[in-house]
Amino acid sequence: MDTKVLKPTDENIRYAGCLIANGRLVAFPTETVYGLGADARNGEAVSAIFQAKGRPGDNPLIVHVSTAEEIPPLVSEIPEGARLLMEHFWPGPMTLIFPRSELISDEVTAGLDTVGIRMPSNPVARELIRWSGCPIAAPSANRSGRPSPTTAAHVYEDLNGRIPVILDGGPCEVGLESTVIDARGSVPVILRPGGITPEMIRAVTGDVRLDEHIMAPVAEGERVRSPGMKYRHYAPKAKTVIFDGITPKVIDEICRRYDAEQNRGGSPAILGFETHNYGGRKVLSLGVPEHPDEAAARLFAALRELDTEGRTLALCEAVGLEGIGLAVMNRMGRAAAFDIVRLE
Ligand code: AMP
Ligand code: MG
Repeated sequence: MDTKVLKPTDENIRYAGCLIANGRLVAFPTETVYGLGADARNGEAVSAIFQAKGRPGDNPLIVHVSTAEEIPPLVSEIPEGARLLMEHFWPGPMTLIFPRSELISDEVTAGLDTVGIRMPSNPVARELIRWSGCPIAAPSANRSGRPSPTTAAHVYEDLNGRIPVILDGGPCEVGLESTVIDARGSVPVILRPGGITPEMIRAVTGDVRLDEHIMAPVAEGERVRSPGMKYRHYAPKAKTVIFDGITPKVIDEICRRYDAEQNRGGSPAILGFETHNYGGRKVLSLGVPEHPDEAAARLFAALRELDTEGRTLALCEAVGLEGIGLAVMNRMGRAAAFDIVRLE
């Protein structure tokens, strides 16, 4: 199969919508990362997503809608807490967990009695959903285990020959997957951090909790509330270590390990802030410390670059946990299997 990369013209979006309505797969841009979409009501089409990605069957997909009217047929109830968050943060990078209806195919929910639903803000994604005429189930459009794609070129790298069409909407604004929230109880619980931050949620609901697995590895066989959390996603081939603490000590230690790796004949790289002086060593920039949204937008491309350049060791500067920094550290932490060196 030839994979076509198409500009998101009206005509191409309409064509892509037809493909989805006919049970085919389309990769498309959203404000978070690129998604790989299929009709969420069509079990065969949804199975094809798992096949194209090599995704474990017990990892559920998020369903994407373009208007609030599309929700009631997909769920058995809209919890009060979810309604409040929908009003404030949709369209946008936030997925909510609902008790599911029968309309959603079992393949989407991976056997759970709940479904994650999101209304993206990206205009191409919204038009695609509208033209397809159906709810679109879509995980990130990468091969399973690779960093999520934030450009059409990343999708092509992973899925060329496996899907008919990629809509190229340019780089993704947020660059990390959506915030997943279970708002069925009295206090909303963040299952996966993302572009809608704990601070933003607390400002609306007064309280918010973080799932315990956000900054910790999941033990073999342990049950988790957000199944994706148990997989070691985003892992580059390079051994990946994070350094957190007092900046001059972090920079010194990273330089020391960098030089040792080079002396050993390895090929190290630093994921760090461009305002820090690494004396000409190879740095993949995370922007500046004051703007964690830049680190969010750059992280996945940087992790992919490690593999493209055949790096053997990735030395990463920790990002502050405020705002979207929590989501950055959750993804970086999992890329590093939570190997974090603290320098106080
Ligand atoms: P991806 O689209 O690849 O980022 O994966 C979607 C992720 O959303 C999954 O790995 C889960 O962690 C989470 N998710 C989707 N549906 C549910 C659900 N019904 N309950 C809890 N988490 C979910
Ligand atoms: Mg994914």
